[in-house]
Amino acid sequence: MQALLNEILDQVRPLIAQGKVATYIPALADVALDQLGIAVYGNDGELFTAGDAHTPFSIQSISKVFSLVQAIQHSGESIWERLGHEPSGQPFNSLVQLELENGRPRNPFINAGALVISDINQSRFAAPALSMRDFVRRLSGNPHVVIDRHIADSEYQHRARNAAMAYLMQSFGNFHNDVEMVLRNYFSYCALSMSCVDLVKAFCFLARDGFCKHSGEQILSARQTQQVNSIMATSGLYDEAGNFAYRVGLPGKSGVGGGIVAIVPGQYTICVWSPGLNKAGNSLAGMAALEVLSDRIGWSVF
Ligand code: GLU
Repeated sequence: MQALLNEILDQVRPLIAQGKVATYIPALADVALDQLGIAVYGNDGELFTAGDAHTPFSIQSISKVFSLVQAIQHSGESIWERLGHEPSGQPFNSLVQLELENGRPRNPFINAGALVISDINQSRFAAPALSMRDFVRRLSGNPHVVIDRHIADSEYQHRARNAAMAYLMQSFGNFHNDVEMVLRNYFSYCALSMSCVDLVKAFCFLARDGFCKHSGEQILSARQTQQVNSIMATSGLYDEAGNFAYRVGLPGKSGVGGGIVAIVPGQYTICVWSPGLNKAGNSLAGMAALEVLSDRIGWSVF
């Protein structure tokens, strides 16, 4: 595995130059393009890393899985009264579908859906951002995970589109808390700073029927774990989820910070990071690395 990871990073490294860092969040535009890391974590506890696997980066939309899991933990099936679990086929920050579908987001991994989930968490926690930070610290076994305030503030200053979605949902009665407060917490979730190693550890419960071995907690039931993985497989990579299923064949979740997490159910958790994005907003070199890895080992769940 170690030799394979080194080989794959060498193979995809030339692609880095073709990607573009996200610039619509100014603080993310400062991230150096020339970075690439991968971590693979086996359910037996074996950890393999290559490249910049220990460098923290902005997890962005990868946090949408954590907030969904928190919401399932405290509210269970009732969350689906407020949003769906269908792919959207639209860009992650699109307003069009939301208007046509009466303010009910298609799924929790587009921004509108994640905002509804943040609203649900806002009703449950006194300090949602701190609850989230502590949750991922427990999941990852790393007590030093922090929220990057510079990035969270930068996102809040440039919140127009996310704010538009939240207010639109409020107008349909699908938003219960103060919009600005929920936006602040949503951006704090996105601004969590974690490395590939932190993320494979934090996500390994999805490869282990819901059990997190660092905290010793059953995070989700085995059935709920299958359901979260299924939403990742159908909606985890923006409107490129079909391409990801075709090329990689695993449940996954990406973020505009350039990270992608993928789950090999029952076996492994993978995280790859390279900040240069393709047109759909997914890490360009990261997608390529996962494709080669999955192909070489035969990991596609299909
Ligand atoms: N914080 C970003 C936003 O709301 C998340 C985008 C992403 O990673 O997809 O626009």
